[in-house]
Amino acid sequence: MTTSTRDERATADTFEVRSPSTGDLVGSFPTHTADDVAATVARARVAADWWAGLTFGERAKRLDRFRGIIARRLAQLAGIMHEETGKPHSDAALEASLALDHCAWAAKHADQVLGRRRAGVGLLTLNQAASVEYRPLGVVGVIGPWNYPVFTPLGSIVYALAAGNAVVFKPSEFTPGTGSWLVEAFAQVVPEHPVFQLITGDGSTGAALCASGVDKVAFTGSTATAKKVMAGCSETLTPIVAECGGKDALLVDTDADLDSAADAAAWAGMANAGQSCIGTERVYVHADVYDAFVEKLVKIAREQRAGTDPDAKIGPITLPSQVETIRRHINDALRRGGRAALGGPDAVDGNVVQPCILTNVPEDSPAVTEETFGPTLTVTKVRDMDDAVARANATTYGLGAAVFSKKRGAEIADRLRCGMVAVNAVFNFPQIPSLPFGGVGDSGFGRIHGPDGLREFSYARSVARQRFTPPLALTTFARTAKTDSLVAKIMTLLHGRH
Ligand code: NAD
Repeated sequence: MTTSTRDERATADTFEVRSPSTGDLVGSFPTHTADDVAATVARARVAADWWAGLTFGERAKRLDRFRGIIARRLAQLAGIMHEETGKPHSDAALEASLALDHCAWAAKHADQVLGRRRAGVGLLTLNQAASVEYRPLGVVGVIGPWNYPVFTPLGSIVYALAAGNAVVFKPSEFTPGTGSWLVEAFAQVVPEHPVFQLITGDGSTGAALCASGVDKVAFTGSTATAKKVMAGCSETLTPIVAECGGKDALLVDTDADLDSAADAAAWAGMANAGQSCIGTERVYVHADVYDAFVEKLVKIAREQRAGTDPDAKIGPITLPSQVETIRRHINDALRRGGRAALGGPDAVDGNVVQPCILTNVPEDSPAVTEETFGPTLTVTKVRDMDDAVARANATTYGLGAAVFSKKRGAEIADRLRCGMVAVNAVFNFPQIPSLPFGGVGDSGFGRIHGPDGLREFSYARSVARQRFTPPLALTTFARTAKTDSLVAKIMTLLHGRH
Protein backbone atom coordinates (compact mmCIF):
# COMPACT_ATOMS: atom_id res chain seq x y z
CA MET A 1 0.00 0.00 0.00
CA THR A 2 1.02 3.61 -0.35
CA THR A 3 2.51 5.60 2.49
CA SER A 4 0.30 8.64 2.30
CA THR A 5 -3.29 9.61 1.89
CA ARG A 6 -4.62 11.42 -1.16
CA ASP A 7 -4.99 14.48 0.97
CA GLU A 8 -2.35 17.06 0.07
CA ARG A 9 -3.72 19.50 2.65
CA ALA A 10 -2.21 17.47 5.41
CA THR A 11 -0.30 19.16 8.17
CA ALA A 12 3.36 18.47 8.78
CA ASP A 13 2.43 16.11 11.62
CA THR A 14 2.20 12.51 10.61
CA PHE A 15 2.04 9.16 12.36
CA GLU A 16 3.29 5.76 11.34
CA VAL A 17 1.50 2.43 11.20
CA ARG A 18 3.55 -0.71 11.79
CA SER A 19 2.61 -4.32 11.17
CA PRO A 20 1.96 -6.17 14.44
CA SER A 21 3.33 -9.30 12.73
CA THR A 22 6.63 -7.99 11.39
CA GLY A 23 7.13 -4.57 12.92
CA ASP A 24 7.61 -3.25 9.37
CA LEU A 25 6.40 0.20 8.44
CA VAL A 26 3.05 -0.17 6.71
CA GLY A 27 2.20 3.47 6.11
CA SER A 28 2.45 7.04 7.28
CA PHE A 29 -0.59 9.28 7.61
CA PRO A 30 -1.34 12.87 8.57
CA THR A 31 -2.59 13.72 12.04
CA HIS A 32 -5.44 15.99 11.03
CA THR A 33 -5.94 19.04 13.21
CA ALA A 34 -9.18 20.70 14.28
CA ASP A 35 -8.81 23.12 11.31
CA ASP A 36 -8.38 20.21 8.90
CA VAL A 37 -11.45 18.54 10.37
CA ALA A 38 -13.50 21.74 10.12
CA ALA A 39 -12.54 22.13 6.44
CA THR A 40 -13.45 18.50 5.75
CA VAL A 41 -16.83 18.88 7.44
CA ALA A 42 -17.47 22.09 5.48
CA ARG A 43 -16.86 20.21 2.20
CA ALA A 44 -19.08 17.40 3.48
CA ARG A 45 -21.96 19.86 4.01
CA VAL A 46 -22.01 20.76 0.32
CA ALA A 47 -21.71 17.10 -0.65
CA ALA A 48 -24.50 16.16 1.77
CA ASP A 49 -26.95 18.56 0.09
CA TRP A 50 -26.19 17.05 -3.30
CA TRP A 51 -26.33 13.44 -2.07
CA ALA A 52 -29.61 14.05 -0.18
CA GLY A 53 -31.05 15.47 -3.41
CA LEU A 54 -30.63 12.12 -5.18
CA THR A 55 -33.42 9.57 -5.00
CA PHE A 56 -33.12 6.44 -2.87
CA GLY A 57 -32.77 4.50 -6.11
CA GLU A 58 -29.90 6.68 -7.37
CA ARG A 59 -28.04 6.29 -4.08
CA ALA A 60 -28.68 2.55 -4.11
CA LYS A 61 -27.05 2.27 -7.55
CA ARG A 62 -23.88 3.93 -6.25
CA LEU A 63 -23.80 1.77 -3.13
CA ASP A 64 -24.26 -1.33 -5.28
CA ARG A 65 -21.27 -0.33 -7.38
CA PHE A 66 -19.28 0.37 -4.20
CA ARG A 67 -19.90 -3.18 -2.97
CA GLY A 68 -18.97 -4.47 -6.43
CA ILE A 69 -15.54 -2.86 -6.09
CA ILE A 70 -15.03 -4.30 -2.60
CA ALA A 71 -16.06 -7.76 -3.81
CA ARG A 72 -13.75 -7.69 -6.84
CA ARG A 73 -10.76 -6.33 -4.90
CA LEU A 74 -11.34 -8.29 -1.71
CA ALA A 75 -7.85 -9.79 -1.68
CA GLN A 76 -6.24 -6.36 -1.98
CA LEU A 77 -8.34 -4.91 0.84
CA ALA A 78 -7.72 -7.99 3.01
CA GLY A 79 -3.99 -7.55 2.42
CA ILE A 80 -4.06 -4.06 3.94
CA MET A 81 -6.25 -5.23 6.84
CA HIS A 82 -3.80 -8.07 7.48
CA GLU A 83 -0.80 -5.73 7.40
CA GLU A 84 -2.37 -3.24 9.79
CA THR A 85 -4.02 -5.57 12.32
CA GLY A 86 -1.99 -8.77 11.98
CA LYS A 87 -5.16 -10.84 11.59
CA PRO A 88 -4.87 -13.82 9.22
CA HIS A 89 -5.47 -12.90 5.59
CA SER A 90 -8.42 -15.32 5.28
CA ASP A 91 -10.09 -13.86 8.39
CA ALA A 92 -9.64 -10.37 6.92
CA ALA A 93 -11.22 -11.45 3.62
CA LEU A 94 -14.14 -13.06 5.47
CA GLU A 95 -14.69 -9.91 7.55
CA ALA A 96 -14.78 -7.65 4.49
CA SER A 97 -17.04 -10.00 2.56
CA LEU A 98 -19.57 -10.07 5.42
CA ALA A 99 -19.95 -6.31 5.07
CA LEU A 100 -21.20 -6.70 1.49
CA ASP A 101 -24.62 -8.03 2.47
CA HIS A 102 -25.10 -5.02 4.72
CA CYS A 103 -24.25 -2.67 1.88
CA ALA A 104 -26.78 -4.45 -0.35
CA TRP A 105 -29.48 -4.52 2.34
CA ALA A 106 -29.13 -0.86 3.32
CA ALA A 107 -29.24 0.26 -0.33
CA LYS A 108 -32.25 -1.91 -1.14
CA HIS A 109 -34.36 -1.15 1.94
CA ALA A 110 -33.66 2.53 2.60
CA ASP A 111 -36.67 3.69 0.56
CA GLN A 112 -39.07 1.24 2.17
CA VAL A 113 -37.87 2.05 5.72
CA LEU A 114 -37.31 5.80 5.40
CA GLY A 115 -39.53 6.92 2.53
CA ARG A 116 -42.76 8.81 3.09
CA ARG A 117 -45.61 6.68 4.36
CA ARG A 118 -49.15 7.32 5.53
CA ALA A 119 -49.87 7.40 9.25
CA GLY A 120 -53.21 6.61 10.90
CA VAL A 121 -55.49 9.31 12.32
CA GLY A 122 -57.96 9.36 15.24
CA LEU A 123 -61.67 10.09 15.50
CA LEU A 124 -61.14 13.79 16.17
CA THR A 125 -58.64 14.09 13.30
CA LEU A 126 -60.52 12.21 10.58
CA ASN A 127 -60.26 15.33 8.40
CA GLN A 128 -56.43 15.13 8.38
CA ALA A 129 -54.11 13.22 6.05
CA ALA A 130 -51.05 12.24 8.09
CA SER A 131 -47.69 11.05 6.81
CA VAL A 132 -44.16 10.57 8.07
CA GLU A 133 -40.78 10.35 6.37
CA TYR A 134 -37.24 9.96 7.65
CA ARG A 135 -34.86 12.61 6.39
CA PRO A 136 -31.06 12.51 6.40
CA LEU A 137 -29.37 14.30 9.29
CA GLY A 138 -26.71 15.91 7.07
CA VAL A 139 -23.11 15.04 7.94
CA VAL A 140 -22.37 11.99 10.07
CA GLY A 141 -18.98 11.58 11.76
CA VAL A 142 -17.91 7.95 12.08
CA ILE A 143 -15.17 7.03 14.55
CA GLY A 144 -13.97 3.47 14.15
CA PRO A 145 -11.97 0.82 16.03
CA TRP A 146 -9.09 -1.30 14.69
CA ASN A 147 -10.32 -4.81 15.54
CA TYR A 148 -12.81 -5.11 12.63
CA PRO A 149 -11.67 -2.15 10.52
CA VAL A 150 -14.07 -2.88 7.63
CA PHE A 151 -17.13 -4.68 8.96
CA THR A 152 -17.59 -2.45 12.01
CA PRO A 153 -17.31 1.06 10.51
CA LEU A 154 -19.19 0.04 7.34
CA GLY A 155 -22.04 -1.03 9.66
CA SER A 156 -22.51 2.68 10.33
CA ILE A 157 -21.18 4.15 7.08
CA VAL A 158 -23.31 2.32 4.51
CA TYR A 159 -26.50 2.81 6.55
CA ALA A 160 -25.73 6.53 6.98
CA LEU A 161 -25.01 6.88 3.24
CA ALA A 162 -28.11 4.93 2.22
CA ALA A 163 -30.16 7.26 4.43
CA GLY A 164 -28.81 10.22 2.41
CA ASN A 165 -26.04 11.57 4.67
CA ALA A 166 -22.47 12.51 3.86
CA VAL A 167 -19.88 10.78 6.06
CA VAL A 168 -16.59 11.95 7.54
CA PHE A 169 -14.73 8.86 8.72
CA LYS A 170 -11.94 8.75 11.27
CA PRO A 171 -10.64 5.20 11.37
CA SER A 172 -8.53 3.96 14.25
CA GLU A 173 -4.96 5.24 14.20
CA PHE A 174 -3.98 1.56 13.85
CA THR A 175 -5.95 1.04 10.62
CA PRO A 176 -5.94 4.27 8.57
CA GLY A 177 -4.82 2.47 5.39
CA THR A 178 -7.92 0.29 5.47
CA GLY A 179 -10.10 3.39 5.95
CA SER A 180 -8.30 5.17 3.13
CA TRP A 181 -8.89 2.21 0.78
CA LEU A 182 -12.65 2.32 1.49
CA VAL A 183 -12.89 6.07 0.91
CA GLU A 184 -10.96 5.87 -2.36
CA ALA A 185 -13.14 3.00 -3.60
CA PHE A 186 -16.30 5.01 -2.86
CA ALA A 187 -14.87 8.08 -4.63
CA GLN A 188 -14.62 5.98 -7.79
CA VAL A 189 -18.36 5.40 -7.84
CA VAL A 190 -19.29 8.88 -6.56
CA PRO A 191 -16.74 11.20 -8.20
CA GLU A 192 -19.03 14.28 -8.24
CA HIS A 193 -18.74 15.29 -4.57
CA PRO A 194 -16.77 14.15 -1.50
CA VAL A 195 -19.74 12.33 0.02
CA PHE A 196 -17.51 9.96 1.99
CA GLN A 197 -14.26 11.50 3.32
CA LEU A 198 -11.35 10.38 5.43
CA ILE A 199 -9.63 12.12 8.30
CA THR A 200 -6.75 10.41 10.08
CA GLY A 201 -5.16 10.77 13.47
CA ASP A 202 -5.49 9.65 17.06
CA GLY A 203 -7.98 10.59 19.76
CA SER A 204 -7.30 14.30 19.28
CA THR A 205 -8.56 14.12 15.67
CA GLY A 206 -11.57 12.13 16.91
CA ALA A 207 -12.24 14.76 19.56
CA ALA A 208 -12.05 17.49 16.87
CA LEU A 209 -14.66 15.59 14.85
CA CYS A 210 -16.94 15.46 17.92
CA ALA A 211 -16.58 19.23 18.36
CA SER A 212 -16.97 20.04 14.66
CA GLY A 213 -20.74 20.39 14.66
CA VAL A 214 -21.48 17.28 12.60
CA ASP A 215 -25.08 16.19 12.88
CA LYS A 216 -24.35 12.85 14.53
CA VAL A 217 -21.35 10.84 15.68
CA ALA A 218 -21.36 7.08 15.23
CA PHE A 219 -18.73 5.85 17.64
CA THR A 220 -17.38 2.31 17.96
CA GLY A 221 -14.70 1.65 20.53
CA SER A 222 -14.20 1.25 24.24
CA THR A 223 -16.68 2.34 26.90
CA ALA A 224 -14.09 4.71 28.42
CA THR A 225 -13.66 6.54 25.09
CA ALA A 226 -17.43 6.61 24.50
CA LYS A 227 -17.76 8.71 27.66
CA LYS A 228 -15.23 11.21 26.30
CA VAL A 229 -17.01 11.25 22.94
CA MET A 230 -20.33 11.93 24.67
CA ALA A 231 -18.79 14.73 26.74
CA GLY A 232 -17.22 16.26 23.62
CA CYS A 233 -20.46 16.06 21.69
CA SER A 234 -22.48 17.63 24.51
CA GLU A 235 -21.02 21.07 23.74
CA THR A 236 -22.82 21.16 20.39
CA LEU A 237 -25.73 18.89 21.43
CA THR A 238 -24.52 16.40 18.81
CA PRO A 239 -26.30 13.06 19.25
CA ILE A 240 -24.24 9.88 19.26
CA VAL A 241 -24.66 6.19 18.73
CA ALA A 242 -22.25 4.29 20.97
CA GLU A 243 -21.13 0.76 20.09
CA CYS A 244 -18.83 -0.18 22.93
CA GLY A 245 -17.17 -3.17 24.52
CA GLY A 246 -18.63 -6.32 26.01
CA LYS A 247 -18.03 -9.33 28.22
CA ASP A 248 -20.22 -11.80 26.38
CA ALA A 249 -21.21 -15.07 28.02
CA LEU A 250 -21.95 -18.43 26.40
CA LEU A 251 -24.27 -20.75 28.34
CA VAL A 252 -24.26 -24.53 27.95
CA ASP A 253 -27.26 -26.55 29.19
CA THR A 254 -27.35 -30.31 29.90
CA ASP A 255 -29.04 -31.12 26.59
CA ALA A 256 -26.66 -29.04 24.43
CA ASP A 257 -24.82 -30.52 21.49
CA LEU A 258 -21.47 -30.39 23.30
CA ASP A 259 -19.35 -30.75 20.18
CA SER A 260 -20.89 -27.75 18.51
CA ALA A 261 -20.95 -25.75 21.79
CA ALA A 262 -17.23 -26.41 22.32
CA ASP A 263 -16.42 -25.59 18.71
CA ALA A 264 -18.41 -22.34 18.96
CA ALA A 265 -16.85 -21.32 22.28
CA ALA A 266 -13.35 -21.90 20.91
CA TRP A 267 -14.04 -19.85 17.81
CA ALA A 268 -16.02 -17.03 19.47
CA GLY A 269 -13.38 -16.74 22.18
CA MET A 270 -10.24 -17.07 20.14
CA ALA A 271 -10.80 -16.08 16.53
CA ASN A 272 -9.30 -12.66 15.75
CA ALA A 273 -7.06 -13.39 18.78
CA GLY A 274 -10.12 -12.81 20.99
CA GLN A 275 -10.25 -9.18 19.92
CA SER A 276 -13.97 -9.11 19.14
CA CYS A 277 -16.53 -6.89 20.82
CA ILE A 278 -19.02 -9.79 20.64
CA GLY A 279 -16.35 -12.37 21.39
CA THR A 280 -17.20 -14.93 24.07
CA GLU A 281 -15.12 -14.24 27.18
CA ARG A 282 -17.08 -16.23 29.81
CA VAL A 283 -18.58 -19.72 29.52
CA TYR A 284 -21.10 -21.07 32.06
CA VAL A 285 -21.68 -24.79 31.86
CA HIS A 286 -24.23 -26.98 33.65
CA ALA A 287 -22.48 -29.19 36.25
CA ASP A 288 -23.78 -32.39 34.60
CA VAL A 289 -21.88 -31.75 31.36
CA TYR A 290 -19.07 -29.54 32.63
CA ASP A 291 -16.20 -32.05 32.55
CA ALA A 292 -17.14 -33.39 29.12
CA PHE A 293 -17.45 -29.85 27.74
CA VAL A 294 -14.09 -28.67 29.12
CA GLU A 295 -12.38 -31.73 27.68
CA LYS A 296 -13.81 -31.07 24.21
CA LEU A 297 -13.04 -27.34 24.38
CA VAL A 298 -9.43 -27.88 25.44
CA LYS A 299 -8.96 -30.43 22.66
CA ILE A 300 -10.12 -27.94 20.00
CA ALA A 301 -8.32 -24.90 21.44
CA ARG A 302 -5.04 -26.82 21.86
CA GLU A 303 -4.92 -27.28 18.08
CA GLN A 304 -5.20 -23.55 17.33
CA ARG A 305 -1.77 -21.95 17.23
CA ALA A 306 -1.20 -18.23 17.56
CA GLY A 307 1.68 -16.72 15.63
CA THR A 308 2.83 -14.14 13.13
CA ASP A 309 3.44 -16.59 10.27
CA PRO A 310 0.91 -17.16 7.47
CA ASP A 311 -0.05 -20.63 8.76
CA ALA A 312 -1.09 -19.44 12.23
CA LYS A 313 -4.84 -19.62 12.81
CA ILE A 314 -4.63 -16.84 15.39
CA GLY A 315 -2.73 -13.62 14.71
CA PRO A 316 -0.80 -11.42 17.14
CA ILE A 317 -2.40 -8.95 19.54
CA THR A 318 -2.85 -5.76 17.53
CA LEU A 319 -2.69 -3.21 20.33
CA PRO A 320 0.69 -3.33 22.16
CA SER A 321 -0.85 -2.12 25.45
CA GLN A 322 -3.47 -4.91 25.42
CA VAL A 323 -0.84 -7.59 26.05
CA GLU A 324 -0.36 -6.36 29.62
CA THR A 325 -4.14 -6.47 30.26
CA ILE A 326 -4.29 -10.07 29.05
CA ARG A 327 -1.27 -11.05 31.16
CA ARG A 328 -2.77 -9.35 34.24
CA HIS A 329 -6.11 -11.15 33.81
CA ILE A 330 -4.44 -14.57 33.47
CA ASN A 331 -2.06 -14.08 36.39
CA ASP A 332 -4.70 -12.61 38.67
CA ALA A 333 -7.12 -15.48 37.90
CA LEU A 334 -4.48 -18.07 38.77
CA ARG A 335 -3.41 -16.22 41.91
CA ARG A 336 -7.00 -16.29 43.15
CA GLY A 337 -7.27 -20.06 42.83
CA GLY A 338 -8.14 -20.40 39.16
CA ARG A 339 -6.63 -23.23 37.11
CA ALA A 340 -5.28 -23.12 33.57
CA ALA A 341 -6.83 -26.07 31.74
CA LEU A 342 -4.88 -24.77 28.75
CA GLY A 343 -2.24 -22.06 28.50
CA GLY A 344 -1.36 -19.94 31.52
CA PRO A 345 1.27 -17.26 32.13
CA ASP A 346 3.60 -18.80 29.53
CA ALA A 347 0.91 -18.38 26.87
CA VAL A 348 1.93 -14.72 26.55
CA ASP A 349 5.09 -14.34 24.48
CA GLY A 350 5.76 -10.86 23.15
CA ASN A 351 2.61 -9.82 21.30
CA VAL A 352 1.58 -13.42 20.58
CA VAL A 353 -0.85 -15.07 23.01
CA GLN A 354 -1.64 -18.79 22.77
CA PRO A 355 -5.18 -19.98 23.63
CA CYS A 356 -5.92 -20.00 27.36
CA ILE A 357 -8.77 -21.79 29.13
CA LEU A 358 -9.15 -20.81 32.75
CA THR A 359 -11.39 -22.71 35.17
CA ASN A 360 -12.47 -22.12 38.80
CA VAL A 361 -11.91 -18.39 38.40
CA PRO A 362 -13.69 -16.31 41.09
CA GLU A 363 -16.52 -14.20 39.66
CA ASP A 364 -15.03 -10.97 40.97
CA SER A 365 -11.66 -11.35 39.23
CA PRO A 366 -10.84 -9.05 36.29
CA ALA A 367 -10.77 -12.08 33.94
CA VAL A 368 -14.54 -12.35 34.59
CA THR A 369 -15.51 -8.71 35.06
CA GLU A 370 -13.35 -6.74 32.57
CA GLU A 371 -13.00 -6.97 28.80
CA THR A 372 -9.84 -9.09 28.26
CA PHE A 373 -9.65 -8.87 24.44
CA GLY A 374 -7.33 -11.85 24.13
CA PRO A 375 -7.72 -15.54 23.15
CA THR A 376 -8.75 -16.49 26.68
CA LEU A 377 -11.92 -18.00 28.13
CA THR A 378 -13.07 -18.49 31.69
CA VAL A 379 -15.17 -21.66 31.98
CA THR A 380 -17.30 -21.94 35.10
CA LYS A 381 -19.40 -24.82 36.43
CA VAL A 382 -22.97 -23.80 37.34
CA ARG A 383 -25.64 -25.54 39.44
CA ASP A 384 -28.37 -25.04 36.85
CA MET A 385 -29.36 -22.59 34.14
CA ASP A 386 -30.88 -20.15 36.66
CA ASP A 387 -27.41 -19.91 38.14
CA ALA A 388 -25.94 -19.50 34.64
CA VAL A 389 -28.36 -16.68 33.75
CA ALA A 390 -27.73 -14.86 37.03
CA ARG A 391 -23.95 -14.98 36.51
CA ALA A 392 -24.15 -14.06 32.83
CA ASN A 393 -26.25 -11.00 33.74
CA ALA A 394 -23.96 -9.93 36.60
CA THR A 395 -21.95 -7.56 34.40
CA THR A 396 -22.11 -3.87 33.64
CA TYR A 397 -21.85 -4.75 29.94
CA GLY A 398 -24.75 -6.04 27.81
CA LEU A 399 -23.65 -6.53 24.21
CA GLY A 400 -24.21 -10.13 23.02
CA ALA A 401 -24.57 -13.65 24.40
CA ALA A 402 -25.03 -17.22 23.22
CA VAL A 403 -27.02 -20.17 24.56
CA PHE A 404 -26.56 -23.83 23.69
CA SER A 405 -29.56 -26.02 24.55
CA LYS A 406 -31.68 -28.24 22.33
CA LYS A 407 -34.98 -27.71 24.15
CA ARG A 408 -34.73 -24.52 26.20
CA GLY A 409 -32.45 -22.31 24.10
CA ALA A 410 -34.99 -19.58 23.32
CA GLU A 411 -36.39 -19.63 26.87
CA ILE A 412 -32.94 -19.16 28.45
CA ALA A 413 -32.00 -16.54 25.84
CA ASP A 414 -35.11 -14.54 26.81
CA ARG A 415 -33.73 -14.00 30.29
CA LEU A 416 -30.38 -12.55 29.27
CA ARG A 417 -29.82 -8.80 29.56
CA CYS A 418 -28.08 -7.91 26.30
CA GLY A 419 -28.75 -6.38 22.91
CA MET A 420 -28.26 -9.56 20.86
CA VAL A 421 -28.37 -13.25 21.61
CA ALA A 422 -27.47 -16.30 19.54
CA VAL A 423 -29.08 -19.71 20.12
CA ASN A 424 -27.09 -22.86 19.24
CA ALA A 425 -24.60 -20.75 17.25
CA VAL A 426 -22.25 -17.79 17.68
CA PHE A 427 -21.67 -14.61 15.66
CA ASN A 428 -24.85 -15.27 13.65
CA PHE A 429 -26.77 -12.06 14.41
CA PRO A 430 -24.30 -9.57 12.88
CA GLN A 431 -24.43 -11.52 9.63
CA ILE A 432 -28.19 -10.92 9.29
CA PRO A 433 -28.53 -7.39 7.87
CA SER A 434 -32.16 -7.01 8.91
CA LEU A 435 -31.24 -7.43 12.59
CA PRO A 436 -30.29 -4.36 14.62
CA PHE A 437 -26.85 -4.49 16.27
CA GLY A 438 -26.01 -2.85 19.58
CA GLY A 439 -25.96 -3.24 23.32
CA VAL A 440 -27.25 -2.00 26.66
CA GLY A 441 -25.47 -0.69 29.76
CA ASP A 442 -21.74 -0.15 29.36
CA SER A 443 -21.96 -1.70 25.88
CA GLY A 444 -23.59 1.49 24.64
CA PHE A 445 -26.82 2.60 23.04
CA GLY A 446 -28.39 3.19 19.66
CA ARG A 447 -28.39 0.64 16.87
CA ILE A 448 -26.61 0.01 13.60
CA HIS A 449 -27.80 -2.52 10.96
CA GLY A 450 -31.37 -3.22 9.92
CA PRO A 451 -34.26 -0.73 9.85
CA ASP A 452 -33.17 0.72 13.22
CA GLY A 453 -29.71 1.28 11.75
CA LEU A 454 -31.18 3.31 8.88
CA ARG A 455 -33.42 5.35 11.19
CA GLU A 456 -30.44 5.99 13.49
CA PHE A 457 -29.03 8.25 10.75
CA SER A 458 -32.21 10.15 10.00
CA TYR A 459 -34.85 12.21 11.73
CA ALA A 460 -38.58 11.64 11.61
CA ARG A 461 -40.51 14.40 9.91
CA SER A 462 -44.27 14.44 10.29
CA VAL A 463 -46.76 16.20 8.04
CA ALA A 464 -50.48 16.52 8.80
CA ARG A 465 -52.50 18.02 5.93
CA GLN A 466 -56.06 19.21 6.54
CA ARG A 467 -58.30 17.70 3.87
CA PHE A 468 -61.53 19.49 4.84
CA THR A 469 -62.84 21.80 7.58
CA PRO A 470 -63.55 19.75 10.70
CA PRO A 471 -67.11 19.48 12.00
CA LEU A 472 -65.71 20.27 15.45
CA ALA A 473 -63.35 23.23 15.33
CA LEU A 474 -60.97 22.73 18.28
CA THR A 475 -57.91 24.88 17.67
CA THR A 476 -59.59 28.22 17.34
CA PHE A 477 -60.61 31.01 19.74
CA ALA A 478 -64.04 30.62 18.10
CA ARG A 479 -64.51 27.26 19.87
CA THR A 480 -67.89 27.16 21.60
CA ALA A 481 -69.06 25.73 24.93
CA LYS A 482 -71.20 23.28 22.93
CA THR A 483 -68.07 21.96 21.19
CA ASP A 484 -66.31 21.58 24.57
CA SER A 485 -69.18 19.56 25.95
CA LEU A 486 -69.37 17.38 22.84
CA VAL A 487 -65.60 16.70 22.99
CA ALA A 488 -65.91 15.78 26.68
CA LYS A 489 -68.69 13.30 25.82
CA ILE A 490 -66.73 11.75 22.95
CA MET A 491 -63.60 11.41 25.13
CA THR A 492 -65.60 9.80 27.93
CA LEU A 493 -67.11 7.36 25.43
CA LEU A 494 -63.69 6.54 23.94
CA HIS A 495 -61.55 6.39 27.05
CA GLY A 496 -63.79 6.54 30.12
CA ARG A 497 -64.55 2.84 30.30
CA HIS A 498 -60.87 1.94 30.89
P1 NAD B 1 -10.77 3.03 21.50
O1 NAD B 1 -11.89 3.47 22.37
O2 NAD B 1 -9.39 3.10 22.05
O3 NAD B 1 -10.73 3.89 20.15
C1 NAD B 1 -11.83 3.92 19.27
C2 NAD B 1 -11.72 5.13 18.38
O4 NAD B 1 -11.92 6.31 19.18
C3 NAD B 1 -10.36 5.32 17.70
O5 NAD B 1 -10.58 5.73 16.38
C4 NAD B 1 -9.71 6.41 18.53
O6 NAD B 1 -8.76 7.16 17.83
C5 NAD B 1 -10.91 7.26 18.88
N1 NAD B 1 -10.74 8.13 20.04
C6 NAD B 1 -9.90 7.97 21.10
N2 NAD B 1 -10.07 8.99 21.97
C7 NAD B 1 -11.03 9.80 21.46
C8 NAD B 1 -11.66 11.00 21.92
N3 NAD B 1 -11.33 11.57 23.08
N4 NAD B 1 -12.64 11.53 21.15
C9 NAD B 1 -13.00 10.95 19.99
N5 NAD B 1 -12.44 9.82 19.51
C10 NAD B 1 -11.47 9.25 20.24
O7 NAD B 1 -11.15 1.56 21.02
P2 NAD B 1 -10.29 0.56 20.13
O8 NAD B 1 -9.17 0.03 20.99
O9 NAD B 1 -9.99 1.16 18.83
O10 NAD B 1 -11.36 -0.62 19.88
C11 NAD B 1 -11.57 -1.67 20.77
C12 NAD B 1 -12.84 -1.44 21.56
O11 NAD B 1 -13.91 -1.29 20.65
C13 NAD B 1 -13.20 -2.64 22.42
O12 NAD B 1 -13.68 -2.19 23.65
C14 NAD B 1 -14.29 -3.32 21.61
O13 NAD B 1 -15.15 -4.12 22.38
C15 NAD B 1 -14.98 -2.15 21.01
N6 NAD B 1 -15.75 -2.54 19.82
C16 NAD B 1 -17.11 -2.50 19.87
C17 NAD B 1 -17.86 -2.88 18.76
C18 NAD B 1 -19.36 -2.83 18.80
O14 NAD B 1 -19.95 -2.85 17.72
N7 NAD B 1 -20.01 -2.76 19.94
C19 NAD B 1 -17.21 -3.29 17.60
C20 NAD B 1 -15.83 -3.33 17.57
C21 NAD B 1 -15.10 -2.93 18.69
